[in-house]
This record gives sequence, structure tokens and C-alpha cells, in this order.
Amino acid sequence: MERVYITTPLYYVNAEPHLGHTYTTVVADTLKRYFQAIGYEAFLLTGTDEHGDKIAQAAAANGSSPKEYADRISDLFRSTWDQCGIVYDHFIRTSDRYHQEYVQKILQKIYDAGEIYFGEYGGFYCYGCERFYTEKELVDGKCPDHQTTPDYISEKNYFFRMSKYQERLIEEIQQKANLIRPERYRTEVLAFLREPLEDLCISRPTSRLKWGIPLPFDANYVTYVWFDALLNYVSALHHRGGSSLQTLWPKAQHLIAKDILKPHAIYWPTMLMAAGLPLYDHVNVHGYWVMDSGKMSKSLGNVIRPLEMKARFGMDAFRYFLLREMAFGQDAKFSEEALITRVNADLANNLGNLVSRVLAMQQKYFAGVVQPLASEWAREDLELNAKFAQAETELNVFMAELQFHRALESVWSALDHANRYIVHTAPFTLIKDPAKQARVGEVLHHLLEAVRTLARLLAPFMPDTARELSALLALSDNALKKPWGQGFAAGHTVQAPKVLFPRIETDAKK
Ligand SMILES: [Zn+2]
Repeated sequence: MERVYITTPLYYVNAEPHLGHTYTTVVADTLKRYFQAIGYEAFLLTGTDEHGDKIAQAAAANGSSPKEYADRISDLFRSTWDQCGIVYDHFIRTSDRYHQEYVQKILQKIYDAGEIYFGEYGGFYCYGCERFYTEKELVDGKCPDHQTTPDYISEKNYFFRMSKYQERLIEEIQQKANLIRPERYRTEVLAFLREPLEDLCISRPTSRLKWGIPLPFDANYVTYVWFDALLNYVSALHHRGGSSLQTLWPKAQHLIAKDILKPHAIYWPTMLMAAGLPLYDHVNVHGYWVMDSGKMSKSLGNVIRPLEMKARFGMDAFRYFLLREMAFGQDAKFSEEALITRVNADLANNLGNLVSRVLAMQQKYFAGVVQPLASEWAREDLELNAKFAQAETELNVFMAELQFHRALESVWSALDHANRYIVHTAPFTLIKDPAKQARVGEVLHHLLEAVRTLARLLAPFMPDTARELSALLALSDNALKKPWGQGFAAGHTVQAPKVLFPRIETDAKK
């Protein structure tokens, strides 16, 4: 059996789940469902990244311990994904004991191999924030939080010999065209690698930071960010045991937003090389959601929370919008107006109308009983079938390229065709002629085949809707896979229609 291992980043517990987290997670969930539908064994990992000074400070400000604070936010992520219907297989926390032990094991291995050394680390240190800033992070040379000029201080720290792996990394990226995708991000990484790569500082002294994983070879230090946060992708499989690490790890597909490209496309592969592990299959990079009102922030009050969106519009409508609106890799605009327009046009009108018209006619003309097909299909029937077959072929091509919006476009193109087929064949007129009854039965049978195909094609994107369609057709999952014309046994009865997506009315005065 073919396998795929899909990961989201571990979400940092300094913020509650918002639109950015939700998009990556929905994409991961869609991919997992898609791969399963085409016969893969698929494993989805998500979780939370919990160590570091930011969390220690946030916890202190909250009057709780870092662990208590991390517990609360981590639970929030997990319960949000549960309520959103995300089918993750494992939820990892970097504070989990097995993860800490694995990180220590790998650090020791790399240290023993001479790939970690003790050296001098210098940087801009803000005493108010109790952290280093890079020059880029400073605003006019000042701490963005305290508006003070940080001191340049240096301290002893441990470094990973990342520079040593530069040439090998460039070779890997050049040989494997889609290791980093879409292409623009591969180009970006290769451009970055034209400059000499520095070694990576991987520790902080416990005198300043205690909330971290102790270095196994020096109790006065904890590991800082990279080994802790990135090794989760492997430690989770190691923890799962059996052959998971051997069979799933090399089939890894990481999903990330572009802000964490460098750690995933440079630090992580070099760490894997040093640890003697194979590289992942792909790192898949998406862009940002841009709000009409500017960058999403708490202070602007424009934070999009997934559970609020689910409560207002339904999870499938929200998923559909996210997957249809953003071209994976590029930035996209988020606005409620755009979401409502899509829900009304694509879901309420196009999809919803097709399903309810077909089921209503089936009910009215034949009491829901599916009528037999003629042995010879009319030209328009063959065209309808061909249009859906084409949509499925295109969908498979686009899914392999992570072009979710185009995959959905192809399905909607077939949907449009089905709506035109109704107008063209006009069963509502034919039914008035008793001699045309059999033809009406055939037309509706083909339309039910279209709805059955939609239930199958839409399942990875809109799982609840796909389930509702199957229930309306009174079909099992297995029946969804049968070829066109063979989905309904003689005498099969389908359900009466129901409203799948109510039209969202907006206040015109607003
Ligand atoms: Zn500061």
C-alpha cells in the first residue's frame, strides 16, 4: 500500500487558533482525506510547540506556570480541531515526555559525532523582553515592545554545524525539483543559499531560560527552538512504534505558511542529514490571508476564529471558501462579503439547487424510486457522464499539485453542466407527455449519477456535505465508487430533498 505522512506545523501556544492555523489544518485534513480516497494509508500529525521565553513570560504575566499555561492553550487547539472535524491521527506536544527524550537522544547523537560545538553567541538583548532580537526584528534599532535600544551582549552557547551541509542541501534541492513547492519558494531558498550558511545557535543558558528541554551533555543549558520544534515530525512516529518511522517518515509532506520557510527548508533538512535520517518528500508552502482591514491582529479586533465561522456559516462552507479562494502558495484576501458571495453563488445556488431539483423531481414523478436506464444512452447523457469523468481526471491532476482551487473549479464546471443538462432535457416539460415518462426516468437517473459523483469528489473538501449527499441518495460509501450507470440497483429509493446550504441574507443597509 502506498503511504503518505502529512503534517501541520506545531502551533506555538502564544496565540489562540485563528484563520492562519485553520487554513493549514484544513488543507492537511483535505489532503489526508483525498489520499485515503485514492487508496493510500495516510497519517496526519498536528500539535503544539510549547517551550521558549515567550511562553514563560506569558505564563508569568498570567500568574500560572509555563506548563499550566501551555496545557490550557494546547487543549484549546486540540478541542478546536476536534470540533472542526479535523481527522488528525496524533496530536503531539513538545512538552510530552517521549518527545523530550527523543530530542535529547538525537542531540546526544549529533554531539557525539562532533556536529555540535560550544562557542560565542552575540545578539541584541532586550532586558524587558528577556530575549535576543535579530537586527531585522528591531524597529529603528529599538525593541518593538519596549521602545528601548537593546544591548549587544554575547554569551557562550552551543552551535550546530549547519554550514557544513550547505553544498549537500543545494544538491538535494536541485536534484529534487519539488522538494520545496510551489516553485517560487524553491527559488527563494536557492537564492538564500547562494550566501554562506552560518552555524545555528541551538541553546540558551538555564540562568535565563528554564522552560525548555535540557541539553543531555550540559545541564546548564536548554535547547532553543529548532531541535525541539522540528524534531516533533519524527519523534511522533518514533513514539508510535512499529515500522511507522521507517515506512511513513520518508513519505512526509510538511504543510507550512511562508513565514516558516527557512526553518523547514534549510535548518530542518540539515538537521536530518546530521541525524542520519532521510529527507522529507515535500515541504508545501502557502501564503497569507490578508484582511480587508490590514493585517489580522487582536488590537484591530479582526481575528478570525474557526469556531465562530463554523457556528455562523457551517464548517463545510468555511472549508469550501478557504480552499476555493486561495491559490496555494499565494496570498489571498479574506472578507466576510467574499465568503457570503461564494456560499450563495456556489453552494446555495449551484450545488444546493441541483441537488434539490433532482431529488424533488424524483420524488414528485416517481415517489423517489430510481428508474431504469435505456441500453443506449442519448448524446447529452454521454456528454454529462463525460463531463464528470473529465472533472475527476482534472481534480486528480490538480490535487497532485496542491491546486485546491482549480480542483474545485473543475468540479463546479461539471456542476454547471448538470444544471444546463436539466434546462436542455427539460424533464419538467416531458413529464406532461405520458409517452415520455421513461425518458424522464432516464434523465433523472443520469442526474442522480451526477449527484452521486459529487458526493465522491467533494468528500475530501466538504466531508459533512458528502455524507449528507450519500444519505439523501441512501447509498453506502462503497456504492459511491461504482461506475456511472451502476450506482443504483433496480427499485432503489432516494430521499426527498432538503436544503443543504441556506442562502445567507445580508443586511443591505450595512
Ligand atoms: Zn523588549
